[in-house]
Amino acid sequence: MNSKNLTRNILIGMTLGAIVGIIINIVGPDTSGLSVLVKDIFPLVGSIFVRSLQLLVVPLVLLSLICGTSALDDVRRLGRIGFKTVAFYMATTAIAISIAISLAVIFKPGSGMQLDYETNFVAKESPPLTDVILNIFPKNPFAAMAEGNMLQVIVFAILFGLAATLVGPPGRRVIALANDLNDIVMKLVMLLLMAAPFGVFALVARTFAKEGFSAILALSQYFFLVLAALAIHAFVAYGLIFKTFTGLSVKQLYRNLRKVQIFAFSTASSNATIPINLENAEHRLGVKPAVASFTIPLGATINMDGTAIMQGVATVFIAQALGVDIGLQGYLMVVLTATLASIGTAGVPGVGLIMLAMVFQQVGLPVAAIGVIYGVDRLLDMARTAVNVTGDAVVSVIVAKSEGEFDQEVFDAKK
Ligand code: ASP
Repeated sequence: MNSKNLTRNILIGMTLGAIVGIIINIVGPDTSGLSVLVKDIFPLVGSIFVRSLQLLVVPLVLLSLICGTSALDDVRRLGRIGFKTVAFYMATTAIAISIAISLAVIFKPGSGMQLDYETNFVAKESPPLTDVILNIFPKNPFAAMAEGNMLQVIVFAILFGLAATLVGPPGRRVIALANDLNDIVMKLVMLLLMAAPFGVFALVARTFAKEGFSAILALSQYFFLVLAALAIHAFVAYGLIFKTFTGLSVKQLYRNLRKVQIFAFSTASSNATIPINLENAEHRLGVKPAVASFTIPLGATINMDGTAIMQGVATVFIAQALGVDIGLQGYLMVVLTATLASIGTAGVPGVGLIMLAMVFQQVGLPVAAIGVIYGVDRLLDMARTAVNVTGDAVVSVIVAKSEGEFDQEVFDAKK
């Protein structure tokens, strides 16, 4: 199957999944016969698919980063790429959350709502900021890999790649082996992609079948405002930033990103999407491995613009509903904490809501009120994850282009 047909089939899988899921939701997911599908078959197929993606994350990040680091001729370039990438990630997140807060302040989704936040929601403890920083430094590379601690795996792989480059002939042998192994794991990603239409179908069908659409109706102002902010950021803000810094076609960017966005949407996990985003960055966006191997996994770990948008709207929404005025200082605090929280948010489903507790605490809102929006979070999680991975890809192209690590022919190719 060529890659154009594959993307088409994945899109069909997602659409059919949504249609079947909504039909089941209307008929009743507990109806006999259907409940087997919703409770057993869809989750089984979906989980097998997500696990297979997760299986590849650690080996792929490790190997591609070792290869990527060693492909850079100069250690100083690594520092420059790192600095640029982190700066773009932080800046785009701050822009995202500013869009979110502005929309929420203008449209006041929470005013006039009677909020009863005596919910059963118990916030999980969000980690203190010092832990978030300390957590970057690995103490045991094998433990980091076993736990899937991506920041630590990234740090270890870069150090290993650097040392391998510096050590001479033995390093060259190891790097050659790492390149071969990397090709094998990449091939596995491509093979897994063949099963993607089915995996995507099962994941989307299950979520839509189980989702409480009445909850969305009750919170429609919040729900649709988050979606609007996500759309504005994804299409207008990224579009402008991308055009300004690369001069490339935004339309082509989106065409090349469709597959990755569908994966992120159906899995609601930036982490599980790393293999696809990495493969796509190299083979469709034209980002050379030296940059993509670093920017994509790092972005999946620390760059969460969609998550920050949800946190911005949620904070203003709850404050309005409770009649609390958090003031300009409060809004600035939201921008700061949500940007930091998005760094600490792991790229797995639902974590954004846990980190929201940190933002609420900073601005003095009751953490229990998060329970109010809990019921509508799954669909928003899917949408924001699609935005999260889009941001990673956009910044990857910008950094690659500025570093001469970009292949225009690959980007422009009709797929
Ligand atoms: N699911 C999101 C991600 O993986 C994180 C979140 O917002 O919960 O990117």
